[in-house]
Amino acid sequence: MIVMGIESSCDETGVGIVRWAGGAAELLADEVASSVDEHARFGGVVPEIASRAHLEAIVPTMRRAREAAGIDRPDAIAVTIGPGLAGALLVGVAAAKAYSLAWDVPLYAMNHLGGHVAVDTLEHGPMPECVALLVSGGHTHLLHVSDLARPIAELGTTVDDAAGEAFDKVARLLDLGYPGGPALDRLAVHGDRSAIAFPRGMTGPRDARYDFSFSGLKTAVARYVERCARDGVQVPLADVAASFQEAVADVLTMKAIRACTDLDVDTLVLGGGATANSRIRSLAAQRCAEAGITLRVPKPRLCTDNGVMIATLGAHVIAGGAQPSPLTVASDPGMSVQVSQL
Ligand code: ATP
Ligand code: MG
Ligand code: FE
Repeated sequence: MIVMGIESSCDETGVGIVRWAGGAAELLADEVASSVDEHARFGGVVPEIASRAHLEAIVPTMRRAREAAGIDRPDAIAVTIGPGLAGALLVGVAAAKAYSLAWDVPLYAMNHLGGHVAVDTLEHGPMPECVALLVSGGHTHLLHVSDLARPIAELGTTVDDAAGEAFDKVARLLDLGYPGGPALDRLAVHGDRSAIAFPRGMTGPRDARYDFSFSGLKTAVARYVERCARDGVQVPLADVAASFQEAVADVLTMKAIRACTDLDVDTLVLGGGATANSRIRSLAAQRCAEAGITLRVPKPRLCTDNGVMIATLGAHVIAGGAQPSPLTVASDPGMSVQVSQL
């Protein structure tokens, strides 16, 4: 069975193709067109620009993916219906419906978050029961996945900013450009991560065990920078970057490990663009090793939004016996992970 996945929930137009055989998905094509550069001068994703870019990119990206995979048409189409930006989702969903109708192949509606977890199987094989930590510009989720073909349980999420968004906002504060996460990561290498004691949000005894908060941290960085200006001292940029990054990585990995321990699950999967962060990776590796937990992290290209993650999730869901979605299926910008891909 050959499954095509279509992804357009944010600023990446992704079309991926996998072959499902012997209980595993194999990558045949992974084409991504990103509008990230068009958003740079606005310092964040502009929904209207993203939608228009998807509209321009979707047909050529579909063509490139089919050429790369050497196929004329797939046996099934899986498409992200949510969560994501309303106008952006519409483009991928409309394209998926049109091709499903034209090619007479079944359509399957997918949850974007499940795709971020499923994609890891392409590199590291079948997925056991796991806890997944998804961190990107739009999402911060702690999930409990018992089976990729079944709905996923959400353990916690952010109550304000997403982790990647916090990186971007702090990077902007430090004048590092957009998207600021990678630049901040590079700068932090030269800093002292214990130089400034920035707050760890939602870690008090009465706070929810698995939820996150990053807006207080962002404000603390802003206040620190303001204080430097007031006192006429130069902002120690690298120390601020390293200390901020440490605060984010500390809370994320601490809560992820806590979830594994509470649920007696011995596999942790990371996903989403912000898992490219070097400190999140190294602290997760260190703490997982200490706790006897197997850590699975897809390569960076598969961590950011792409179509192959949706194709891979689709393959698992279809193999699990799911029925196709009707052509009337609607996109669902606020889709909860609990209803997942079914
Ligand atoms: P979505 O939220 O729908 O998954 P997105 O476009 O917001 O999509 P991704 O494309 O997955 O997110 O990832 C981009 C985010 O990851 C940005 O916020 C970016 O700053 C952050 N990021 C990328 N590399 C790093 C890094 N090395 N350190 C920290 N953050 C990073
Ligand atoms: Mg993106
Ligand atoms: Fe994503």
